[in-house]
Amino acid sequence: MTLATFDALTAAVPGALSSAEITVGQIVHTGILECPPDLLLHEAARRMSAARVSSILVVENDIPIGIWTERDALAVDFDHPDSFDRPIRDVMSAPVRTVARDLSLQELAVRFRDEHMRHYLVVDPQGRRCGIVTQTDVVLNQGIEHYLKLRKLDTIIKGNLQPLPPSAPLGEAARQMRDAARDAVVVAYEDGSYGILTERDLTRLVAERAGNRPVGELASRPLITVGEDASLYRVRCMLSDRGIRHVGVLRHDGSLTDVVSFADILSGMELSYVQELQHALRQRDLALNASQRNLHLAEKIIETTLEGILITDDKARIISVNPAFTRLTGYRPEEVIGRNPSMLSSGRQTPEFYQEMWSRLQREGQWQGEIWNRRKTGEIYPELLTITAIKDRDGKLTNYAAVFSDISQLKENEARIRHLAYYDPLTGLPNRRLLEDRLQVAMAHAHRHRKRGAVLFIDLDRFKRINDSLGHEIGDRLLIEIARRLSACLREDDTVARMGGDEFIAVLSDLTDPDDAAHTAARIIEALRRPVEVDGHELTVTTSIGISVFPDDGRDPAVLVKNADIAMYRAKEEGRNAFQLYQPAMNARSLEHLALENALHRALDCEELVLHFQPLVQHDTGQTVAAEALLRWQHPELGLVPPAKFIPLAEETGLIVPIGEWVLRAACLQHARWREAGHDHLHMQVNISARQFRDENFTALVARVIAETGMPAAQLTLELTETMLMEDSERTVSMLNDLRALGVRLALDDFGTGYSSLAYLKRFPINELKIDRLFTRDIDRNPGDAAIVEAIIRLAHSLGQRVVAEGVESAAQRAILARYGCDLMQGFHFGHPTDATRFLLSCQP
Ligand code: C2E
Ligand code: CA
Ligand code: CA
Repeated sequence: MTLATFDALTAAVPGALSSAEITVGQIVHTGILECPPDLLLHEAARRMSAARVSSILVVENDIPIGIWTERDALAVDFDHPDSFDRPIRDVMSAPVRTVARDLSLQELAVRFRDEHMRHYLVVDPQGRRCGIVTQTDVVLNQGIEHYLKLRKLDTIIKGNLQPLPPSAPLGEAARQMRDAARDAVVVAYEDGSYGILTERDLTRLVAERAGNRPVGELASRPLITVGEDASLYRVRCMLSDRGIRHVGVLRHDGSLTDVVSFADILSGMELSYVQELQHALRQRDLALNASQRNLHLAEKIIETTLEGILITDDKARIISVNPAFTRLTGYRPEEVIGRNPSMLSSGRQTPEFYQEMWSRLQREGQWQGEIWNRRKTGEIYPELLTITAIKDRDGKLTNYAAVFSDISQLKENEARIRHLAYYDPLTGLPNRRLLEDRLQVAMAHAHRHRKRGAVLFIDLDRFKRINDSLGHEIGDRLLIEIARRLSACLREDDTVARMGGDEFIAVLSDLTDPDDAAHTAARIIEALRRPVEVDGHELTVTTSIGISVFPDDGRDPAVLVKNADIAMYRAKEEGRNAFQLYQPAMNARSLEHLALENALHRALDCEELVLHFQPLVQHDTGQTVAAEALLRWQHPELGLVPPAKFIPLAEETGLIVPIGEWVLRAACLQHARWREAGHDHLHMQVNISARQFRDENFTALVARVIAETGMPAAQLTLELTETMLMEDSERTVSMLNDLRALGVRLALDDFGTGYSSLAYLKRFPINELKIDRLFTRDIDRNPGDAAIVEAIIRLAHSLGQRVVAEGVESAAQRAILARYGCDLMQGFHFGHPTDATRFLLSCQP
């Protein structure tokens, strides 16, 4: 229903009061024409004609005793002139019928019809005269226009019209009116035209004392007519607009069928029906007002809401959209009205999606969900959409209404939050949490398809050193590049995540052969080995990778990661830059490691570390000239733990740095005590680990400890290994020179086990070579070994270096070494490592 129809309907109901609410007092004519009882009839008629009223009230002693009306004029005998001169008392109607002032118009209409009255005197509650009310007043005031509009004129036509010839006398006309209960007669002239003579005319003729003249002379001409199709409303308007009281009714053929007046209109009305109609219309009026208000409200909301609204007809053709729709989609109303909403679809949803949507709409009358649509610009965006099927009262589908909001912002925020929660902010790689998800998925996938997958635990070997020495910024940039290379080594379905620090984990899915994981690991090691250039620094990192395979090495993500981690540690132990496949045996070992590591942390604080000393002896004199400090861990439960059990671990964890410092200081302090005891000729030999030597502050540390303990530098020998010297020769040479500058001596430990050639030794400022126990061991049985030892001793001497043979366990070995000119010897043959007190006792000559 459009607003225009609402207007038409509401206009039909006079917003005013209905006849049930209007009282007689409100419409009564207050000026009553009154006369005394002895007034002559023609004079009374004259007064009525002059006042243009239809009745005169006869009053005696202020009491109404009768009424004379136009109707009564019909009773006058026009043949007898005397009749005009009679006193009105003789011809008036009595008694006077009254109605109360507060009677409703509705009830008045009923009384007019039922009592066949045409005038009532209106009185107030005290009986005072208020005025006269007529049928005409009712018709004009009842508020029955809507009823009159609905009814055609032909419903009240009586159809027994008998026009008089012009020659008929006036008395004949009055008689006909009386007999036919009509208030007018029609005169038919010879030329086919009509005239009319009414009760009011008769009253005027009475006033004029007119004789019984032919009606052709007296009638009013022409008769005003209306077609029989006209509504009663039209007739009522004609009568009141033209100030007339009768109108002729013409048939379609133009012939006159009747004359109707206000009285006819009123008497033809079905009053109870009118009343019901009025009531119904009033209710409708109220309802419409309310719904109009609601509609206005709804329109305002639709107009201003931020959600896009689209309404279609039952064929899903768009019939209206709101401004938010235009804002969100870019389409103006005229571009979409009449079209199907599918014009907005992005193509992202499948046809099945839409089928499901429509069938749910049909089933449940509503659908809600997220959908991707396309803006006019072509951009696609997600929206939250609710579609409602709208049905009329009979349950017939009339419209669909779609309400949607753009949720791209929401989605972006969601995605951002998800990204923060699941990705490492530095490298953009998945984080630990997402990795766990992916691993779970990969494991489930492997299980379903009876395939394998692998977890690669990737650890950068020297990253911490770079971070510490060059700063975090450079470290970060290195990590970013490493992350990039790692991703490049993997297939699209694989995941590599950063676990924090310099640890990464890759999950490989769909492996046909576990060897594939090893190949990938080798590829990663290769890719990361290439130097990375950051800010002018050429950085090289090496990688250790541990591999666990699922389902073989574990059926739960945490176990798989742990096992890959264990394998990675093994790879590091075996000498970095390598990968290891997990083997169950590693697990037990690693548990032992873990316990040990924790305990070792405490060892330093709890003073569980002690030094033992082993003599270095001059073979000819048998005199002890030096002591090698060897570390022991006095574990409360495990007893005395040999260094082979914990030094590799201390190196791995970095604990060797503080431990090494403790050893150096403890050895120097011990030396001080020996000097005090008179053994100031003894030398002290201290082992230095590769990790300690790498530390930039190492030289400074040695200088500080010497100074603090008062150690004579020339009596201190630092034992280094070959591998330490090979790492970075230039730096090593300058560091060795710095140490020498402090005055300390340098020994090369375990000589012969490494890769160094003898010629190579020339480059380093070494004072002493310690030949590894490996060569001493078989020297008396293996001539090859004997030859090597002899050559070493000769060459060392030519370079000005002193030679120490380690692991001398027998007199035979001692004899051979003596023959080759070995300077010093060390081994169980001369003495086991023992605590400081026993050591001193053993070196007494
Ligand atoms: P190393 O520097 O070669 O020390 C000599 C090792 O040989 C000692 O083992 C010693 O007990 C052993 N040894 C000496 N004579 C004989 C012999 O005649 N026969 C046999 N079979 N062995 C002999 P230890 O004390 O178990 O030390 C093992 C390694 O631990 C040392 O090898 C050294 O590399 C490391 N180490 C010991 N103390 C320290 C320390 O304070 N700092 C560092 N960084 N490493 C240390
Ligand atoms: Ca040593
Ligand atoms: Ca050694």
